[in-house]
This record gives sequence, C-alpha cells and structure tokens, in this order.
Amino acid sequence: IRKFSEKVPRKWPIPGVNHVILVASGKGGVGKSTTAVNLAVTLANVKGLRVGLLDADVYGPSLPRLMNLSGQPELDKQDKMIPLTNYNVKCMSMGFLVEESEPIVWRGLMVMSAIRRLLRGVAWGLLDILVIDMPPGTGDTQLSISENIPVSGVVLVSTPQDLSLSDARKGAEMFKKVNIPVYGIIENMSGYVCPNCGHHSNVFGKVGGADKLSKDVGVDIIGVIPLDGDICELSDKGQPIVISRPDSPQANSYKNIAERV
Ligand code: ADP
Repeated sequence: IRKFSEKVPRKWPIPGVNHVILVASGKGGVGKSTTAVNLAVTLANVKGLRVGLLDADVYGPSLPRLMNLSGQPELDKQDKMIPLTNYNVKCMSMGFLVEESEPIVWRGLMVMSAIRRLLRGVAWGLLDILVIDMPPGTGDTQLSISENIPVSGVVLVSTPQDLSLSDARKGAEMFKKVNIPVYGIIENMSGYVCPNCGHHSNVFGKVGGADKLSKDVGVDIIGVIPLDGDICELSDKGQPIVISRPDSPQANSYKNIAERV
C-alpha cells in the first residue's frame, strides 16, 4: 500500500504563496502573456495584493519585454533566485537566464527540470497570488505544473477563431480532468473598431464563438478584449495598458477580469 501511495503524484504548495492562478491557452499568439501581465499588474496595483508573475513559457519567454525587465536574478543564501520587480509585481522568467536572441533548443527532460527550478527555486517571499503564464497547449509541461502545485483556478484565453476555440476547449477539458477549477474564458482580439471611421469588423471570425464554447463546456466568459493597437504597442514597450492608460476601457476590461478570479 505504501509503495502504491508513493506513486500517486503529490502536490506541494510553494512556501509563502497563498493562491496560484494559471493563465493558459490552447494555442500560442492569442494574447495569453498580455492577459497574464495585465491581470497581475491589476491585482497588485488596483486590488493592492502581493503578486508574483511566473513565466512558465520556457520556449518563448515574453515577460522580460512585457514587464520592461532585464538582467540576471541574484541568488539568496538558500540558492533561490530573487525575482525582479516592476509595477509592484515580482517576476521570474527563463528570459532572465538566457539572452533574448538565443534560441532555446531543449529536449523534454530539460524543459521539465527548468520548470521545476522555476516552480521551486524562486524566493517569492510572501505572496497573496502567484500568476503563472503557462506555455500554450495541453502537454507534459501543463500537466506536470497542474499536478505539482495546488492551483486555485485557471483563466483560459482564446481568440474568436474556430481553431483557437477548439484548442481552448481541449484546455478546459484537461484542467477539469486534473480537478482544477476553470474561472472562465477570456475572448481576446474580439472585434476591431477602426479608429478613423468607427467601423466594427470581426477580424478573427464572428463574435459569439466563445459564447458557444462556454455553454458547451460549462464555463463563463469573464472578459472580452478587442483587438486594439494601443494594447499591442504599449505591450511591446513594456508598459502594460492598465498602468499606462489606467482609465481606458481596455484597462477597465482587465479590472473586471481581476474581480472574477
Ligand atoms: P501568447 O502569450 O498567447 O503567445 P501574446 O500575449 O504574446 O500571446 O500576444 C501575441 C501578440 O498579440 C503580441 O504582439 C501582443 O502585443 C498582441 N496582442 C495581444 N492581445 C492583443 C489585443 N487585445 N489587441 C492587440 N494586440 C494584442
């Protein structure tokens, strides 16, 4: 019996961390990291919580640029990496450990050990919430993170495009299987309003696809964010829109999402 129980994966909390929230997507490029950053910054600066942000997207780390951070983290006495901080959010990313231009060419095992180091080897101190920007998809990495630490819930990000939605559905099913509550879906890049003429177009397919997915898998839509030039431009400059345009409708959408997690 003992041997059997030893094989059952055990979840160990990250010391000092109260809640872990995952931001996940079925596909890459749908705005998962942008959402994770704006959510983390809102939780810290609007709700006044102690927040950490972990970039678990080891192949394509974008957190250093989005949070305008660079440099190698220092080690504390226990050899744990000290996170870098900006906008009141403590951040850790593989991007702090490798050059931006350097491709990460790793086998699965190396990815797993990097993830383990990111999950267990960071001196977060006391956090109310750790937001984890997950790698896209529903593979080994996603499973091992979900199985290794207690997770309070997951936010799924999708565009209104059919392909993205069907991958988001797989994500929702996977998290249900590992008993992680899905807070809801964020429909990102949902429609574009021309700043010149005000015309509204549905660039990635008709709005409402996420609605159907949400009904099918029984999870709510907790945010709808339009395709917006400011979000893109400010993200590239490392100035999340919730900081640089705190009163904009886009920032308000992220604030509403922060209320739902
Ligand atoms: P992922 O983490 O899913 O790969 P990113 O957050 O890196 O996606 O976003 C991919 C690109 O799309 C980035 O250039 C980002 O600035 C842009 N982007 C994300 N969300 C929006 C949005 N709502 N409007 C405009 N551009 C966006």
